[in-house]
Amino acid sequence: MSQSQATNRSPAKKLQAIRGMNDLLPGQSAHWQYVEGLVASLMQRYGYAEIRTPILEQTALFARSIGEVTDIVEKEMYTFADRNGDSLTLRPEGTASCVRAAMEHGLLHNQTQRLWYQGPMFRHERPQKGRYRQFHQFGVEAFGLEGPDIDAEVILLSARLWQELGLAKHVTLELNSLGSSEARAAYRERLVAYFEAHYDVLDEDSRRRLASNPLRILDSKNPDMAAMLADAPRLMDHLDAESRAHFEGLTARLAAAGIDYVINPRLVRGLDYYGRTVFEWTTTALGSQGTVCAGGRYDGLVEQLGGKPTPAVGFALGVERLILLLETLELIPPRASDALDVYLVPLDESAEAPAMLLAEELRGALPALRLQLHCGGGSFKSRMKKADRSGARLALLLGEDELREQRVAVKFLREARDQQNLPRETLATCLPEWLADAPA
Ligand code: ATP
Ligand code: MG
Repeated sequence: MSQSQATNRSPAKKLQAIRGMNDLLPGQSAHWQYVEGLVASLMQRYGYAEIRTPILEQTALFARSIGEVTDIVEKEMYTFADRNGDSLTLRPEGTASCVRAAMEHGLLHNQTQRLWYQGPMFRHERPQKGRYRQFHQFGVEAFGLEGPDIDAEVILLSARLWQELGLAKHVTLELNSLGSSEARAAYRERLVAYFEAHYDVLDEDSRRRLASNPLRILDSKNPDMAAMLADAPRLMDHLDAESRAHFEGLTARLAAAGIDYVINPRLVRGLDYYGRTVFEWTTTALGSQGTVCAGGRYDGLVEQLGGKPTPAVGFALGVERLILLLETLELIPPRASDALDVYLVPLDESAEAPAMLLAEELRGALPALRLQLHCGGGSFKSRMKKADRSGARLALLLGEDELREQRVAVKFLREARDQQNLPRETLATCLPEWLADAPA
């Protein structure tokens, strides 16, 4: 017997989900559907089309795009050899796959594209609140547009999402510019010199990054380095003229649209491919995992992956953090739940087939109605108990008398209101009225 068979048979080993990978249970999944529905509609309203790519890609795609010396590629990827010996990786983010697919299918050939995606991403991080090993992102990517108008558009799109979710007051837009690659290279030298002069203050992580990715040191949350970082040279002060004009074009548009922002000169992104505009939407309501949405411009990536030079800008939004935020602030509307409107009870066996037909009739007449039909038989008492426990607002009761008279009894399960008995054909008009005034 092989070792894996032995493990499978071992009665002591309880089967559990993988650490950092969550099940979404009834109740919670409705919150996700609410957010997903809103995002899909928003994207459509802004003229963005959805792209769906595989969850697995060749490892080289991420190594080449995200950058060899980033946290993701250094230590967070789920990489394995498949049965052919090819190195594959569960996608840690969506941009690389999106660029790969767009190039592969000629979507970037002499045209612009406004795309969005959603789905699971995988990173081997230390699981904690707001940080998981399988998590989900929504993302947008706009290709072929180099001006600040499109940077402003993707930020306005995200701002509208906060507004529609009731979150506008709870998130802050932070902006920075990483300049051109030349400006960044010159700044990098200046920054390394500064850090070398303060080498004694650098923690181990930062010392390691000094050679490989010194800009990332700016992002450190280590309080012992805070004072030193506050005095570090700022890329914002050393921007090339074009990047400066681009940034001013963006901030002027945001101001015109009434979008508040703060400039955070230490905002850098964890991925190598960003240049010029970078931004984050942050909140203080989630503790240290406060970045809900992050993005920026990545004009060099398409070329880096073997395509023609193509300007690009986008963002990715962490769905778990967004939903956690909505739940924390109690901003999920009551209708974003699995709650039933109606529980339909055939009172005895002979009423079961007619009840099923009535259920179908009502579902046809009232498409928004949430109706569950009692199944599984049982005594009168147990049927009524199930109705009570269903959480529905109303129970419709169908027994021998009702069938004979073509009527239906209506029991109000959550209001002190007398039971009613009414002609079957009036249900389609009465139900929406009752459900509209009943308490949520
Ligand atoms: P962080 O600094 O929090 O590690 P990051 O720079 O790695 O974030 P991005 O790669 O820019 O994050 O991903 C965009 C968004 O996806 C983040 O702002 C966050 O909301 C979400 N996100 C990233 N990693 C995780 C994770 N492990 N679990 C849950 N959400 C995540
Ligand atoms: Mg990270």
